[in-house]
Amino acid sequence: MKYLILVGDGMGDRPMSELGGRTVLEAARTPAMDQLCRQGHLLQVQTVPSGFPPGSDVANLSLLGYRPEDCYSGRAPLEAAAMGIELAPDETAFRCNLVTLEHDVQGHTRMIDYSAGHIATDQAHILISALQQICANSTFRFYPGINYRHILVVKGAYPDLAPVPPHDFINQDVSRHWQRYLNDPTWQKLVLGAEQVLLNHPINQERIRRGQNPGNGIWLWGEGRLPRMTPIPEQYNLQGSLISAVDLLKGLGICAGLKIINVPGATGWIDTNYEGKAEAALHCLTDQDYVFVHVEAPDEAGHQGSRTAKLQAIEDFDRRIVAPIIAGLRERREEFRVIVTMDHFTPLELRTHTSDPVPALLYDSREMVPGCGLSFSEKNGKVANPEQQPISGAEMLATLLERRSQ
Ligand SMILES: [Zn+2]
Repeated sequence: MKYLILVGDGMGDRPMSELGGRTVLEAARTPAMDQLCRQGHLLQVQTVPSGFPPGSDVANLSLLGYRPEDCYSGRAPLEAAAMGIELAPDETAFRCNLVTLEHDVQGHTRMIDYSAGHIATDQAHILISALQQICANSTFRFYPGINYRHILVVKGAYPDLAPVPPHDFINQDVSRHWQRYLNDPTWQKLVLGAEQVLLNHPINQERIRRGQNPGNGIWLWGEGRLPRMTPIPEQYNLQGSLISAVDLLKGLGICAGLKIINVPGATGWIDTNYEGKAEAALHCLTDQDYVFVHVEAPDEAGHQGSRTAKLQAIEDFDRRIVAPIIAGLRERREEFRVIVTMDHFTPLELRTHTSDPVPALLYDSREMVPGCGLSFSEKNGKVANPEQQPISGAEMLATLLERRSQ
């Protein structure tokens, strides 16, 4: 038996008057998902437990079958895992953004740019190595990542920071958050030392000359420790792979004990290599029994507030991911159980994630009995489960694998 989870990130939405009261998913042409749904079952899954922010990290952790309540501690350790950094049990990883900060004469600090002008990776690596040479010590280590996204590992206990994500404060006064770094001598020495190194660095001098935002500061956030996740192969005696363009997802996959498949041309946007991803999924299932395929484009389109792009992303997910994978399995006369779902809603009107329970269609190739008869949509997730509370991600995975929930 082959098991698949196919995820359209942020596919869920709210009804829109421009679409005659339908959601984008309802308005999109999605014959492959609708057919599987009609012949299968519709579940409703609470991917974001109450009290958690509706991030892709928490929601996909659920879809992978884990309880965020038990194992989630922050996004940075997942990104660190994707970068091949192995955290010791007494270490904490922070996301370390290269940012553009402005301090004025009154002592106010402003977040000009959370990405230092989307600084190029080669320039960023030089800056981060300078920080590693000058500011690192037995407590702090810097690891270069991609563009403005880097990791700081802190060994042992550290004074509380309660840091905030810099992209939530674009062009805003961040003085009171900056002050938290300055309140403690260890953090103060680190962030002010880093500013010294960065301000005077020739790369930043050159960026300023060219009118680009310099990476003149570091901003630490998203901290966490190594997540306590029993790997899927150990938990379910199942070997599997994860396919995604996104580092956070790859980190989750590594922590879940899955093989990470890097598909050339996978971009996380509507120009991604859909055919390559579908082909890779089918290839994984020749010698493994489980694959998790993640497509980022509907979420990005939601963040941009673009109805056209979201509609296209959902139709492409249906036609170029779901349809060819199912056709490939049928051609091989493979028995399979598949879930098609989303991690969370990214409503166009909000341009950010929500914690709504998500619909998940479950289809079993062996079942000949009539299915639920419903098309795949947010509303039908509720229609199919009128009396029932949404299930957790762990329960969803157990249902897919026909195991008892752990
Ligand atoms: Zn997401």
